[in-house]
Amino acid sequence: MKVIDPHIHMSARTTDDYEAMAAAGVVAVIEPAFWLGQPRTNIGSYIDYFSSLIGWERFRAAQFGIRHYCTIGLNSKEANNEALAEQVMDILPRFATKEGVVAIGEIGYDEQSAAEDKYFRAQLDLARELDMLVMIHTPHRDKKKVTSRSMDVCLEHGLTPEKVIVDHNNEETVKETLDRGFWAAFTIYPKTKMGNERMVEVVRQYGSDRIIVDSSADWGVSDPLAVPKVANLMVERGIDPADIHKTCYQNAIAAYGQSGQFNEEDWLNPLPIDQRVLFEDNSVLRGQVARVDEMMADGTKG
Ligand SMILES: [Zn+2]
Repeated sequence: MKVIDPHIHMSARTTDDYEAMAAAGVVAVIEPAFWLGQPRTNIGSYIDYFSSLIGWERFRAAQFGIRHYCTIGLNSKEANNEALAEQVMDILPRFATKEGVVAIGEIGYDEQSAAEDKYFRAQLDLARELDMLVMIHTPHRDKKKVTSRSMDVCLEHGLTPEKVIVDHNNEETVKETLDRGFWAAFTIYPKTKMGNERMVEVVRQYGSDRIIVDSSADWGVSDPLAVPKVANLMVERGIDPADIHKTCYQNAIAAYGQSGQFNEEDWLNPLPIDQRVLFEDNSVLRGQVARVDEMMADGTKG
């Protein structure tokens, strides 16, 4: 079964994760720009981070047979450093319009400070100006209220619901998110919050329209195999295969494909893997035998 993980922070993960994900059927990932666990102190850190999302990390994923896309944005936590946030706003258009960037994100509220509100709104305006999709991060605290407010603010800034993917939904927020016409993404956490079993029940109750499953795996305790595991659990629990296909694969294409940057052909006709290839003089190899796929006459994988 092919699956997509449309929210995962691969920069924080290992090559073992990439290998396990590819083996489990993950064909494409979206890596949202977010914070690093500690605050950045200058704009150069942001420039290098965004550059790595569209450069090295995309290359690294491809070397393990996974197509990598990203979103670009100023996360809510670091919006609270206003001096830095202003500088980040200046460089966002340059990176947001690069190839393989599928949305502005992940943006939204953390503690709902005035600065978070200011830069959330500024980035929604930017998304509208650039005609881009938006990926919304919703916080754990005050989940229901903040999710609702985030959608209000998107509409205030002229975004249409079909261009906005609201992430980290749960049983309390899903109905409103769907009723208002937004995409409802769910992050599967290994121990707390939304788990595999609960996700199966959400799909049983709400069906599969506009529902998207992701892992949000990052540098914390998280599971990069969350999407294939949920898909397999849904099979075991007798969920309709069409609903599994939509929530774990097709809806991500329907949502992020609107960007024109996220195309199924990219991974259905993959370039052959050649781990001898270098990216700015660097490769993923550390002395082991390089994986080199055979190439067909048309340049695709043998
Ligand atoms: Zn995230």
